[in-house]
Amino acid sequence: MLTYPADTALIVVDLQPDFMPGGALPCHEGDAIVPGIAALLASGRYATVVATQDWHPADHASFASQHPGRAPFEQITLHGQPQTLWPDHCVAGSPGAALDGRIDWNRANLILRKGSRADVDSYSAFFENHGPDGSRPATGLASWLRERGITAVHVCGLARDYCVLWTAQDAAAAGFQVSFLWDLTRPVSPEGDAPTRAALDAAGIGIVEGSNE
Ligand SMILES: [Zn+2]
Repeated sequence: MLTYPADTALIVVDLQPDFMPGGALPCHEGDAIVPGIAALLASGRYATVVATQDWHPADHASFASQHPGRAPFEQITLHGQPQTLWPDHCVAGSPGAALDGRIDWNRANLILRKGSRADVDSYSAFFENHGPDGSRPATGLASWLRERGITAVHVCGLARDYCVLWTAQDAAAAGFQVSFLWDLTRPVSPEGDAPTRAALDAAGIGIVEGSNE
C-alpha cells in the first residue's frame, strides 16, 4: 500500500457514537465507514492524522431543545445566518461524544474538539460557524497544519453533507489541496448527496471514490 508524502494529512471528522445508527443524530449508514477508516489509520499511510470531535455544552444553541416551540431539523436564523436545529448530541463528556471505540486513535497526532461555545455552532475543523459579531472564529487548525509543512489534506468521516463538507470547503479556501474521500463519508440524509457534490465541484475539490476501503 502506498504511503502518502509527508506534506499530506488525513482529517477524520466526528467519528462519534451520536452520529452512528442508534445515536442521537445518526448519519445514514454511518457505521459503514468505520472499518475502512480503521484500516486507513492502521496502514500508517499518513504521517499526520487529525481527528475532530464535536463537543457541545448541554445548552448549545444548535440544539432544538434550547428553542421553545422548535423541533429538530427546523431552520432558524442565528446570528443573521441560517441554522439547522439538531437533536441534543455530542454533549461534552457523554458516551455519545466519545471517539468511536472501534478505531485506534493512538494514530492521531491531534484531536481537535469543536463546538464548545454555547452560542456558536461549529461544523468545520477550520472555522466555527458564524458568531454573534458575524465572523467565523478560527480553530487554529490551518496554522497548525502549515507549521508542520502540510499542503494537502484528505478528508473523511461524518457527516458528508455538513461537517466533512464544510471542513473540505474551508481547507480549500485556506489554500490546501483537498481530496474528499467520498466512500469514507456518510450523510445525515442521502438527499444531500447531489448538493454536496455540486458544492465540492464548485470549490474545485477533488472527489475520490472507490479507494481507501
Ligand atoms: Zn454538533
